[in-house]
Amino acid sequence: MSTTELTSPTDTTPLGGPSLPQERRMLTPIPGPRSQELLARKADAVAAGVGHTVPIQAVAAGGGVVVDADGNSLIDLGAGIAVTTLGNAHPKVVAAVQAQVAQFTHTCFMISPYESYVGVAEALNRITPGDHAKKSALFNSGAEAVENAVKIARKFTKKQAVLAFDHGYHGRTNLTMALTAKAMPYKSGFGPFASEIYRSPLSYPYRDGLSGSDAAKRTISLIEKQIGADNLAAIIIEPIQGEGGFIVPAEGFLPALVDWCRANDVVFIADEVQTGFARTGAMFASELFGIVPDLITTAKGIAGGLPLAAVTGRAEIMDASHTGGLGGTYGGNPIACAAALAAIDAFENDGLIERANEIGTILVDRLTALQASDPRIGDVRGRGAMIAAEFVDAATGEPDAALTGAIAKACIAEGVIVLTCGTYGNVIRFLPPLSIPDDLLVEGLDVVAAALAAA
Ligand SMILES: *Cc1c(COP(=O)(O)O)cnc(C)c1O
Repeated sequence: MSTTELTSPTDTTPLGGPSLPQERRMLTPIPGPRSQELLARKADAVAAGVGHTVPIQAVAAGGGVVVDADGNSLIDLGAGIAVTTLGNAHPKVVAAVQAQVAQFTHTCFMISPYESYVGVAEALNRITPGDHAKKSALFNSGAEAVENAVKIARKFTKKQAVLAFDHGYHGRTNLTMALTAKAMPYKSGFGPFASEIYRSPLSYPYRDGLSGSDAAKRTISLIEKQIGADNLAAIIIEPIQGEGGFIVPAEGFLPALVDWCRANDVVFIADEVQTGFARTGAMFASELFGIVPDLITTAKGIAGGLPLAAVTGRAEIMDASHTGGLGGTYGGNPIACAAALAAIDAFENDGLIERANEIGTILVDRLTALQASDPRIGDVRGRGAMIAAEFVDAATGEPDAALTGAIAKACIAEGVIVLTCGTYGNVIRFLPPLSIPDDLLVEGLDVVAAALAAA
């Protein structure tokens, strides 16, 4: 830790983006006085249902840090939930947004089309798995992409049922709440939910010990007995569960489901909203499992922090909807599309897939070393720069949410942003921006290790 004059509390707002000093710097306890002022206003003005994990007033972010209004500089191991994969205020994104915002901000693509939307669709069709003919449609959020993928699959198959999985997370709108597994905080009290949604156990190697093919057989049997292939429009699954705990399915699970879908006229939807765009050390996590989804939903990392989402998939499926059936006022906003083109350029050309794997090696090496001497770390898992540790009671192996929460809280107090997840709330997930310097990542992990030792 060091103190620099650049962003003392009396300074004006520091410059954001890559120019920020890459250091952990604690000038006040968290939250400092300026942050407390904002949080008091938030409590008065913002609906209580909108929570926050880190009690600060963010004023700048870039590289591997988030700076608050009190001049504290926190190490960012969450990337705004896997959104700023490129790093905050990435220069290519900033330049593209500035150029576009001065040109025009909105025409509505459904009224007067523009090139950047088409360019993003072409790019997604090219970089998503599979070399079949593909088409894309753009939306505003991950939930909206998921809703549309389901609409498209139903229209194409003329069937209605949709299968989701235990530990799945697909959003907070009505249909996506129905697809999401966890009641608290996502669903409780918000029903009734959309109908014709079914749920299967997931392959969760750490807890079920099943092979991928046995877990897939269990799912297929559930479909055939409880739903019927003739009624099933789609299976939707995150190749690696995000909110559900970074669960990597056993080998063979996903390919067996894809094969079964192909044989039964069921659309296989990979929800890559969290796993997409280099995060897992591949452009898309589906590639890691050797699968080619029929439809793929993307959002989060797609546009360097601007709100954009997409459904991409087989042209004949994507084209099943009548004209006017898909869209939305803001879907594929020109500023977000300009940002996405810049972001995709960086993902493809700036070595980010390799960088995700380097970060993954640092994370896994450190966490498995900790695990070797601390049985409270039950499992270390993930791919690329999407790595998690699952915390358990050392004696029973039961999930330990209290320990997990205490570690996360201690890390934040020490200036390291970590996020928890998991159905049992006992997982800490590491999703750093790929722009984080190695020494900052290591320092962040030192803080995590100290918090674990003290807990
Ligand atoms: C975050 C997320 C969503 C929802 O995205 P929003 O942009 O928050 O609506 C859907 N699916 C997955 C896998 C996610 O991680």
